[in-house]
Amino acid sequence: MKNTLVCKIDKDNIDMEKIKEFANILKNGGTVIFPTETVYGLGANALDEEASKKIYEAKGRPSDNPLIVHIADKEDVYKLALDVDERAKIVMDKFWPGPLTVVLKKKSIVPSTISGGLDTVAIRMPSHPIALSLIKESGVAVAAPSANISGRPSPTDEENVLEEMNKRVDGIILGGNCNIGLESTVLDLTGDIPMILRPGGVTLEDLEKTLGKVEIDPAILEKNENIIAKAPGMKYTHYSPKASLCIVFGKKENVIDKINFLVDEGTKKGQKIGVMCIDENVSKYKGEVIGLGENLGEVAFNLFKVLREMDKRNVDIIYSESFDKIGIGQAIMNRLSKAAGYKFIQA
Ligand code: AMP
Ligand code: MG
Repeated sequence: MKNTLVCKIDKDNIDMEKIKEFANILKNGGTVIFPTETVYGLGANALDEEASKKIYEAKGRPSDNPLIVHIADKEDVYKLALDVDERAKIVMDKFWPGPLTVVLKKKSIVPSTISGGLDTVAIRMPSHPIALSLIKESGVAVAAPSANISGRPSPTDEENVLEEMNKRVDGIILGGNCNIGLESTVLDLTGDIPMILRPGGVTLEDLEKTLGKVEIDPAILEKNENIIAKAPGMKYTHYSPKASLCIVFGKKENVIDKINFLVDEGTKKGQKIGVMCIDENVSKYKGEVIGLGENLGEVAFNLFKVLREMDKRNVDIIYSESFDKIGIGQAIMNRLSKAAGYKFIQA
């Protein structure tokens, strides 16, 4: 158990004295949780092997799963990566600071502990003002995966971050809700054609407009034992609530009928059944119904929080509606399918 320094910081009126305290923890090899625009991150000095090992310990994360290195100045990419080509410069100019991570060949200064033994490194410049001031003030590049116990949904709000991580790290900055709610897009630029290894806040459509042809790692589109995901993290069970989750897809009316039928069946067996749906359908379902939002942006923002809320309500089974894989929908369906362990029911 660690003695964790916990402090609220207002992102619109940043208290630099407090930021300095947390930056010192990072400088001295400690771990600090801080808000970003995607999800809360659990950071440590990326170039200090001992410090980054503490991240894996705090999360219980497998050590072959590499970490994203966060920087506060675009120019820092050149300190960490080799072969920063024209495509990298274009996407960095267009999407940084923001929810895009680029994978590039790494320089030897990046320890293999944080790159999971790969010869590449994943780098992102976040746009959240607290993240940027903390990284800048610490003067180090900050490795920061999502601040959850490995396998659990990523925390996107203060309450969940505290519940899960208090006493596991040296510092926690509480800075309100993360406004995107899903992790960054991971874009591999080491091959001839840019490839999305993890869909996220920057969409395929956005990237294609900027770069032309962009591929999606086939392993993230479906569960197929024969395809190995290029982003090591994508192979693990992830984002899982305690209840068993299942996605029901098909025509809208059929989905509603099917889910209500399944709720009835479960209830008869004495089970507590949760339902996750778009807000306009909330009144159409039986069971413990939670609306995910009015549109895909809101669904992304609420998804992890609702999965955690279902845990708090102690449901046994959750049925979720399915969403179109358009724009941020691609990332939503990726996280939802993984959280469900790829359990689908056709209505
Ligand atoms: P998280 O740190 O929880 O946001 O997860 C980071 C994601 O980026 C995981 O899916 C990692 O496997 C992936 N990732 C990090 N570094 C690399 C890399 N060098 N090559 C490929 N994927 C990476
Ligand atoms: Mg994560």
